[in-house]
Amino acid sequence: MTSTLECLCGCGLQTKGGKFLPGHDQKLRAAIEQAVGGLSQLRELAETHLGYPINTELSDTSPTVPQRIWQFLLDLNGRQICDDCITVELRLKQRQQSQQTTKPLGLTSDFNRISGTCVRCQQIKDVIAAVSK
Ligand SMILES: [Zn+2]
Ligand SMILES: [Zn+2]
Repeated sequence: MTSTLECLCGCGLQTKGGKFLPGHDQKLRAAIEQAVGGLSQLRELAETHLGYPINTELSDTSPTVPQRIWQFLLDLNGRQICDDCITVELRLKQRQQSQQTTKPLGLTSDFNRISGTCVRCQQIKDVIAAVSK
C-alpha cells in the first residue's frame, strides 16, 4: 500500500507519497517568486520572518548524499538494497557514505535495516528498505 497525499502546490492531485508531484515544487517556487516580485524580494521576506540573513554558501541547493539515498530508497518502494549497491547506483565515492546514511535511517520508523537479500546483487547482507505505509 502506498499512501497518497494531496500535492502541496494546491493543484488538487494526489502524489505517490511525496509532498509534491514531480515538477510541482518548482512550479510552486516559481509562483511564490512571482507573487512577491522575484527571488530577492522573497529572500527579504524570508529574512524578515526569520530574523537573520540567508547565506547562500550555507545552503547548497544540490541534494546531499543522505537526501539522495533517502529519495532512492523511497523510489525502490520497499525493496531491499545493500550499502554496496546503493554506492554503485548513486555513484558515491565511498561505500562508507552509504553506510553512514543507512545506519541512522534504519533506526527511524520509516526504514528497516535488516539482514536480507539485496534486490540488486541478490546476496544476503545488511539491506535497507523503506517501510511502506
Ligand atoms: Zn501539484
Ligand atoms: Zn546489493
